[in-house]
Amino acid sequence: MAANDSLPTKKNLQRRKIVTDPTCDQCGEEDEDCLHALWGCQSVKHVWWDFECCRKFISERFVSFRDLFQGILAQRNQHMAELFAYMGWSLWYNRNAKRVGSTSLPAEKIFNDAVERLQEFHSVQDYSIQDDVVVHSTQWRPPPHPTYKINFDGATFIESDTAGLGVVARDSDGMVIASLSERISLPPTVADLEALACRRAILFALELGLQDVVFEGDSEVIIKHLKAEQPCLTAYGHIIDEARSLSARLRQASYSHIRRKGNKVADQLAKLAKSLYEPRVWMEDIHSNALQYVFHDRGVMPV
Ligand SMILES: [Zn+2]
Repeated sequence: MAANDSLPTKKNLQRRKIVTDPTCDQCGEEDEDCLHALWGCQSVKHVWWDFECCRKFISERFVSFRDLFQGILAQRNQHMAELFAYMGWSLWYNRNAKRVGSTSLPAEKIFNDAVERLQEFHSVQDYSIQDDVVVHSTQWRPPPHPTYKINFDGATFIESDTAGLGVVARDSDGMVIASLSERISLPPTVADLEALACRRAILFALELGLQDVVFEGDSEVIIKHLKAEQPCLTAYGHIIDEARSLSARLRQASYSHIRRKGNKVADQLAKLAKSLYEPRVWMEDIHSNALQYVFHDRGVMPV
């Protein structure tokens, strides 16, 4: 709707002779069309400033909201486009709430609110996809001796245009051999991120000199691609191919899927990367925030 400029902005209402004055109520300076209401108005500019990847667009000139949105889409960053759309919706919702005098969100909260809503949306989506699948473990299990199991996961920090990778290697007693937390720049999709986390896990196994390893992640699609024989033709196919060729250097590598509930240790490590400037590796140890999940995984192990 916004892209077609069909929102009931004051300029559109004037065109339909519903109002006589098209001036924006927020700033009282310019006519309110879609581009002005959602982007150009002084009252919303600082909201966009919170969204780091959008900053460089603020000084650019756009002829319409569609023009702006195409500029965003041309960045080929799914996270950015989704967050942009969410914020646009939120700004319009707030503008209307203010107009009719109902509760609106303070402008400084709009960005964080959009980030949270989007993350919530993604996590619900992941669960609903996984629920269709028949047997998938929710409980972490140790690998058979003398194999090692390496769990991996990714976390997105959209607000800083970065992401986190979390990797933990454990033995058949569930003891931590080594763990890793690393921050990277935000890949275009969640699938890319999971593929990168897996590649990092395989590299970690090589760095540690492990030979027989089970790699375990909570993204079913990535695990499927890794297990497949044929070349991966997705946008992140090159990462999968690289992961596979890295794993060929190990004596034995296999892949297993686990639900997110069972992948908490790697998830914690990925989230911890948010505040890291350089990668952190813990040998025979792990960050204290992830320790409770290690205990949990060990505690319910079959004796
Ligand atoms: Zn205005």
